[in-house]
Amino acid sequence: MTHQHPKTACAMIFEDSNSPLEYKTDHPVPQQADLKPGEVLVKVEYSGVCHTDLHAWKGDWPAAAKKNLVGGHEGAGPIVAIGEGTLTNLKVGQNVGIKWLADSCLDCENCRGGSEATCAQAQCSGYSVDGSFQQYAVSYARHVTPIPDGLPLEVAAPILCAGVTVYRALLNSSARAGQFVAIVGAGGGLGHLAVQYASAMGFRVVAIDTGADKKKLCASYGADKFIDFKDYKNPEDMIKAIKAECDGVGPHAAVVAAAGAAAYEQALEYIRPTGTLVAVGLPPDTFIKANVFFTVFHSKRIVGSYVGNRQDAEEALDFALRGKVSPRIEVCPLKQLPEVYERMEKGQLAGRVVLKNF
Ligand code: NAD
Ligand code: ZN
Repeated sequence: MTHQHPKTACAMIFEDSNSPLEYKTDHPVPQQADLKPGEVLVKVEYSGVCHTDLHAWKGDWPAAAKKNLVGGHEGAGPIVAIGEGTLTNLKVGQNVGIKWLADSCLDCENCRGGSEATCAQAQCSGYSVDGSFQQYAVSYARHVTPIPDGLPLEVAAPILCAGVTVYRALLNSSARAGQFVAIVGAGGGLGHLAVQYASAMGFRVVAIDTGADKKKLCASYGADKFIDFKDYKNPEDMIKAIKAECDGVGPHAAVVAAAGAAAYEQALEYIRPTGTLVAVGLPPDTFIKANVFFTVFHSKRIVGSYVGNRQDAEEALDFALRGKVSPRIEVCPLKQLPEVYERMEKGQLAGRVVLKNF
């Protein structure tokens, strides 16, 4: 069955780091014959805006992004075409998600071991290949995530990066039900979902962020405590306050999901002995300074956690389908992306903005 789709559509595109974000209404849409084996064309209906998209636009990271890039990697919508010769069970009309990890070889040690994002051939949506800030996006049959029937696409969108990432990070924290986990950046896109996954997984949550709105949001998701990092002029006082909330010895793990370097500064100190620091947030030019003696003496672990694999994505969506996790979303038109970035930069967004692409 051939689906009729337009030859051009809307896309938000930028030429190079920090160059203007251009909203185009005549961006070419690949047709059936243009798709290679393994590719699918998705009619993106909603796309979440992740802080990673802002880092990509600003050129914050050591790896260069593609030129003339369409950003976005939390895209949700139906498949409208499948490249000829693609081996897949996917069907035209089926809803799928476009994740940060657009493609990987699935045949190397990392892929086979379930760490697909660290594949040497990994392609990233909205970074090395065009992403979901457009009405029609090409993605890869072996990595798009089927979205279960009954889950609204605007709800699925934030799960595809923020949800999957924090779910995997919490698994990587090795915390067990009943233990304390600090979520740093708890009112943001990743953080507000981390609070919910952590609660659903039985952890006791200490949420760290700033402002009354984010405090209220975290409490509504079952965070046991909220620490406003702006209330503490002296970092030692904040460390004491966080420890005090966790039996006086600190949380068993901290998932750092903030985009600023300061969030990393005290985390290694306030986690308890044998605790785990899970690094998720990706501020530019940031180092975690660990005192070797105390890292050994207190048997602390520092773990990097990078999105999740295909199975993590399905599990993360299933939490949402069952209503255990429910993103707080603000829906905006695609062309408002520049304003969304401005608010994100200032830390003014609580939860996730989801762009509507039609
Ligand atoms: P966001 O802007 O929605 O949220 C960040 C939150 O951190 C905000 O609520 C802000 O108030 C808070 N914050 C800032 N400084 C803080 C501090 N010192 N202490 C506590 N909270 C602080 O961003 P997001 O979309 O949730 O992304 C967060 C980070 O995670 C970004 O750097 C992004 O690139 C990264 N990320 C990593 C992965 C991964 O696989 N590791 C995946 C997705 C996003
Ligand atoms: Zn992301």
